[in-house]
Amino acid sequence: MARRRQLYEGKAKILFEGPEPGTLVQYFKDDATAFNSEKKGTITGKGVLNNRISEYLMMRLMDIGVPTHFIRRLNMREQLIREVEIIPLEVVVRNVAAGSLSTRLGIAEGTRLPRSIIEYYYKNAALKNPMVCEEHITAFGWAATQDLDDVVALTLRINDFLTGLFLGVGISLVDFKIEFGRLYENEEMRIVLADEVSPDNCRLWDSKTGEKMDKDRFRRDLGKVEEGYQEVARRLGILPEAGVRDLKGPEMMQ
Ligand code: 5GP
Repeated sequence: MARRRQLYEGKAKILFEGPEPGTLVQYFKDDATAFNSEKKGTITGKGVLNNRISEYLMMRLMDIGVPTHFIRRLNMREQLIREVEIIPLEVVVRNVAAGSLSTRLGIAEGTRLPRSIIEYYYKNAALKNPMVCEEHITAFGWAATQDLDDVVALTLRINDFLTGLFLGVGISLVDFKIEFGRLYENEEMRIVLADEVSPDNCRLWDSKTGEKMDKDRFRRDLGKVEEGYQEVARRLGILPEAGVRDLKGPEMMQ
């Protein structure tokens, strides 16, 4: 098998050169990090589940007209995506108070927010991804005003749609982080959803019991981390056909 050129290795994923110009292969690892990489670990089967969950959610979003970088899933741990120029922002949407919002503003976790709130964080690991506002984003040229308008419009649609989708399977979408990229096609540029949408970057609570089914199980040492991710996939009806037995997936081939 031909060796593929590795372009980038992040905390949870690796990007390889794709089979055609303008494409990349996104490989999902089991590695997990938290608190700006101060905590590290492995969640067995996470890569397989996140690949599947992110594929499913991006396809549903594309069904309603949200543009994404996703092309198709290739195998248990890899998906083919379009190469985009990543906007260096983590866009966080919050529906219910939790995590850093609760800590920063002293609002009890679980308090429903009066309306959905969007926050921006500058993607810069050395600076520990600081929170920024629109003024910083446009003044420093990380995104133009028009790009940011598109980001906000897409983010609100994504939040509305995913909130309903998860509620339909008994899950409350508390908050999540997404990233966007610029896709250049035929002299045109479009802002598209990039990266992944998975329990690694969402807070997902059982809507009846409040039980956590996301990366907070790892961050806060709550145990049953793998089971949380599996339960999300099970409720979405997309647990891999072989079931939980086969979640380790194939070893990486290069
Ligand atoms: P918080 O700011 O409360 O820590 O996180 C808000 C939401 O964004 C959570 O759903 C969390 O999973 C997600 N999030 C924030 N920063 C990151 C990050 O650096 N990586 C990942 N995977 N998710 C993040």
